[in-house]
Amino acid sequence: MKILAVGRNYAKHIEELQNERPAEPVVFFKPDTAVLKNGAPFYHPEYSNDIHHEVELLVRISREGKFIQEQFAHKYYDAIGLGVDFTARDLQSKAKEKGLPWALAKGFNGSAPVSKFIPKEEFEELQNINFRLEVNGEVRQRGNSSMMLFPIDFIISYLSTYFTLKTGDIVFTGTPEGVAAVSRGDKLTGYIENTKMLDFEVK
Ligand code: MG
Repeated sequence: MKILAVGRNYAKHIEELQNERPAEPVVFFKPDTAVLKNGAPFYHPEYSNDIHHEVELLVRISREGKFIQEQFAHKYYDAIGLGVDFTARDLQSKAKEKGLPWALAKGFNGSAPVSKFIPKEEFEELQNINFRLEVNGEVRQRGNSSMMLFPIDFIISYLSTYFTLKTGDIVFTGTPEGVAAVSRGDKLTGYIENTKMLDFEVK
């Protein structure tokens, strides 16, 4: 499986990092070794002093496809989940300065905690889903999928133009504002609406 991720998909997050608003989605990958499941702890790596949490809605691909038209995109995913796109912001800032790729900053071991998935039929409207991240019981990030600059079906269509999507692939859809550094001992809990989806510790 592969993990495809979209950056800069929420206007207020773009502002907080003083990034430019993209005309097309900003796309990057995480390797399968980035995945953390079932509440497994996140081990804070030594090579970064600034690991940020980015809580994001996930889309699970359920059918192989490429060159998918936006109007048919919904046939290619079956479930929504919650994830954290852990980002070594210090490494990313260095890479950005030099115009270099984000692989190390975004793709390191454990950088993709992934929740269980909820069948998409259980949502009334996919572009109106509330989600949030709490750190030690305090809300740090709150988002709603209606705030995405590029909605899910557009993202699926766009990605499939370049990459064949395969069953089991996961798409990270971008983070709302409120990203901040995590520390060892922090307890992260993530919710979609009022369902607890993520619950793990930084070690
Ligand atoms: Mg992100």
